[in-house]
Amino acid sequence: NVPYQGLPGTKYERTFMMVKPDGVQRQLTGEIIKRMETKGYVLVGLKMVTPDEKLVSQHYDDLKARPFYKGLVKYMSSSGPVVAMVFQGKGVVDYGRVMIGVTDPLKSAPGTIRGDLSVDVGRNTIHGSDGTSPAQDEIALWFKPEEVADIKNCASAWIYEK
Ligand code: GDP
Ligand code: MG
Repeated sequence: NVPYQGLPGTKYERTFMMVKPDGVQRQLTGEIIKRMETKGYVLVGLKMVTPDEKLVSQHYDDLKARPFYKGLVKYMSSSGPVVAMVFQGKGVVDYGRVMIGVTDPLKSAPGTIRGDLSVDVGRNTIHGSDGTSPAQDEIALWFKPEEVADIKNCASAWIYEK
């Protein structure tokens, strides 16, 4: 059994991703999940949540000194639901960030989620954990252990050499 926050450095590494309110409203959830799944990453946790200010503040705790923090917390906690997700696979934390693009969508390469789907930094559609340690903290913040599945993916033998 895999610990629910994953095993960094293995094919059971896990990351936290979240479709932000703009992505939900623009009906991009399916597109985002599709990109991660077709890469070979496994969706092991999924729920729609309308986070309160407390949850969003905890999530963005490291940014509280930044000038945009207040607006960010307000936006994320008062614009309707987000879709919280846990994805599993080798390198999913760092490569998930590559697939997302950089923070500013206008600096994100085409082919990335933000590069293809977003324009503004304050409406950049998706969150992804920035490192394996934050990934474990964020999974624990947004999900209970029983909300993350232990899935034996039948395609695994065709995605991984071993
Ligand atoms: P991320 O890891 O790429 O999402 O970026 P950060 O962790 O640095 O920031 C978290 C979120 O805050 C970003 O995804 C943006 O939505 C928002 N943000 C970051 N920098 C800025 C900024 O300069 N202005 C505004 N308005 N929002 C920002
Ligand atoms: Mg970040």
